[in-house]
Amino acid sequence: MKPLLPLDEAQQRLITMAERLRSETVPVGEALGRYLAEDLIAKRSQPAADMSAMDGYAIAFEDRAGPWQLVGECKAGSPPCPPIQPGQAARIFTGALLPDGADTVVMQENVKTDGATIKLIEEPSPVKGRHVRHASGDFKVGDIALKAGTHLNAAALGHAVIAGAGNLSVGRSPKIAVLSTGDELVAPGADTQPHQIPASNDVMITAMLDRLPARSRSISRIKDDMESLCAALESARDCDIIVTIGGASVGDHDLVAPAFKQLGGKTDFWKIAMKPGKPLMAGTLGDSLVVALPGNPGSAFVTATLFLIPLIRYLAGAAHYMPTMQSAITNTLLPATNQRAEFLRAKADGSGITAFNSQDSAKLSILAAANALLYRPAHSPEQEKGAKVSYIEI
Ligand code: AMP
Ligand code: MG
Repeated sequence: MKPLLPLDEAQQRLITMAERLRSETVPVGEALGRYLAEDLIAKRSQPAADMSAMDGYAIAFEDRAGPWQLVGECKAGSPPCPPIQPGQAARIFTGALLPDGADTVVMQENVKTDGATIKLIEEPSPVKGRHVRHASGDFKVGDIALKAGTHLNAAALGHAVIAGAGNLSVGRSPKIAVLSTGDELVAPGADTQPHQIPASNDVMITAMLDRLPARSRSISRIKDDMESLCAALESARDCDIIVTIGGASVGDHDLVAPAFKQLGGKTDFWKIAMKPGKPLMAGTLGDSLVVALPGNPGSAFVTATLFLIPLIRYLAGAAHYMPTMQSAITNTLLPATNQRAEFLRAKADGSGITAFNSQDSAKLSILAAANALLYRPAHSPEQEKGAKVSYIEI
């Protein structure tokens, strides 16, 4: 029997088959969830000049004892107010530029004023530079504000804007077709005969792509015959990735591989040393990458997590595209593994991580109750309760 392909080798081969998509420019307000295609260089310094971090009075530290003669008012959004001289202070508000001659802000709570003069009323006495946001204290013009491959979350978008960006160069969103196969499949919510099941994977896999930069369309419930499968594959050839679900094993009705080959598809790898997910296949059909996921829901979910999602992130320009491993203490004894890496549906919480007793990949109840995939590398020894293990949050 041909040995199974080790998981990390298979993951690497899929990435090697892929080529990052070209970039496109989008308004920063539309870039959520995308990946930055090139380093974002700050077009401005932040703050551009010394400014107040408080509502209070701008003074010169040299002159810290007061009292001060009140001159001028400095507001956010106004050019700097006139310079202050020794013995003078200017009213200042948060975000306003410090006038020349001032280097320190005294909080308004610490002074009293009759409208013309200001006196300190309480300790502490002013500290040099206190309550001042210094010029370039956050970043300066020419700095790399965000690196190529950064995932553009809400905070990153805010940073891009403050660094002066109006548009961002981002990796393109791959175009994806999700094809599900099986004579037994019926539409969600439809009545089922005992020999039928609702096509749950279609909705589940599409949902997994929802927060990724991907444009997906679904071709659901393709019949298990060559003609229907070939027609469906043909109709998806405009896509960067064609994902098939089911029909990927070696049964007489598992026709995804034969149909794919009949159309001239080239298999890159098939059969991975992992559990669940062994029947995963990957190849190319013309310019499209084809990822054939096994049909059992647990297997489809695990292989989508480990192969499909990283592939999409890679195509879309992500610097970090592989799933992030976390660690936790196992609450159960974990048996040794063989040549297949295992991903156990599990619950991680403050107490550690608990793998479920049943790991049947056909059971959606287990998958839906899980918030983690506990990773057991191939050839792991038994792990006692209390040992540190790795997991992927789902
Ligand atoms: P297959 O890989 O086609 O042999 O399917 C393996 C198992 O997964 C079978 O029990 C199928 O009925 C089930 N299955 C396949 N595709 C889907 C789907 N889209 N939704 C839910 N279950 C599926
Ligand atoms: Mg099938």
